[in-house]
Amino acid sequence: MRVYNFSAGPAILPEEVLKKAAAEMLEYGTSGQSVMEMSHRSKEYQAIIDSVEAKLRDLMNIPENYKVLFLQGGASSQFAMIPLNLMNKNGKADFVLTGQWANKAYQEASRYGKCNAVASSKDKTFSYIPELDKSKFDPEADFFHICYNNTIYGTRFNELPDTGDVPIVADMSSCILSEPVDVSKYGMIYAGAQKNMGPAGLTVVIIREDLIGNAMDITPTMFNYQTHADNGSMYNTPPTYGIYILGLVLDWVAEKGGLAAMAELNKEKAAVLYDFLDESKLFKATVSGKDRSLMNVPFVTGNEELDAKFVSEAKKAGLINIKGHRSVGGMRASIYNAMPIEGVKALVEFMRKFEAENV
Ligand SMILES: *Cc1c(COP(=O)(O)O)cnc(C)c1O
Repeated sequence: MRVYNFSAGPAILPEEVLKKAAAEMLEYGTSGQSVMEMSHRSKEYQAIIDSVEAKLRDLMNIPENYKVLFLQGGASSQFAMIPLNLMNKNGKADFVLTGQWANKAYQEASRYGKCNAVASSKDKTFSYIPELDKSKFDPEADFFHICYNNTIYGTRFNELPDTGDVPIVADMSSCILSEPVDVSKYGMIYAGAQKNMGPAGLTVVIIREDLIGNAMDITPTMFNYQTHADNGSMYNTPPTYGIYILGLVLDWVAEKGGLAAMAELNKEKAAVLYDFLDESKLFKATVSGKDRSLMNVPFVTGNEELDAKFVSEAKKAGLINIKGHRSVGGMRASIYNAMPIEGVKALVEFMRKFEAENV
């Protein structure tokens, strides 16, 4: 029996996608083989990767002057690739420290140049998005990095900083495809696939063309965006099966009405959970107000033993992976695109019952 999986990642995938993949597992079309077994240089596979890129461009409305790259190494490899490729004009970059992933990006980039932390929300365990003071921005920065949705702490940006000509680089690992994005406002967007796009092993990079081709000399060939842009993400073997699954996920999102429809549904789902948290006598959301993520919802009872009991009883009720990140504790419900509203309602119903029994 399938359960409601609230994992932060690898995360739930749409059942329709898994069924389609299962039906095509032994033979893709009339190719006589599984996608997993195909040569990445074959005509059949080229058609798959081309169509996945076209679908992503269409759904996200990606302008012509942006490249889409299908890479490996996770979002974590981007923490090094970004400075290696982008920090080669003035050797400087600005960062907003909104959590663990933002910090890791900052620390890794600090190995390659001068990194300026323009703001941080560490003082309150990253439970909010800090106000940005433009006078702290470095107009000579080669890029300005933000983590758009903070997977661990459950916060999100609602507006972009005004960085002038400095390109914004955004980690969208845990929110890509969850709502419409104006790609033209960014120099680069990147995401590990395992939150909202598909299986682990695929990393998607959307990058403005003029930011490619200026990598530091020390940049490994595989870490140079130019290498992948020049070769249509086929310099070496790309994560072929992950790309194929992404294609199925993109079809699913399109069938649901695209990113605007996805955003409406995600708002509705998040409201079900936040509304309950705001009225509950036992559970409390750790983030308040406009910074609340629509994708990752951390909450606590205030009592560690009760938290552990909740996590264990939820699991027995078919609501799994609800334990909070080890750095925050408590609980976290990740309610990505693929989580149906029924799953969120089932969780709230279970929380109501648990509250009645434990207050
Ligand atoms: C999960 C996550 C990462 C790390 O991704 P990997 O693919 O495991 O390297 C980075 N940033 C954000 C926002 C994430 O949610």
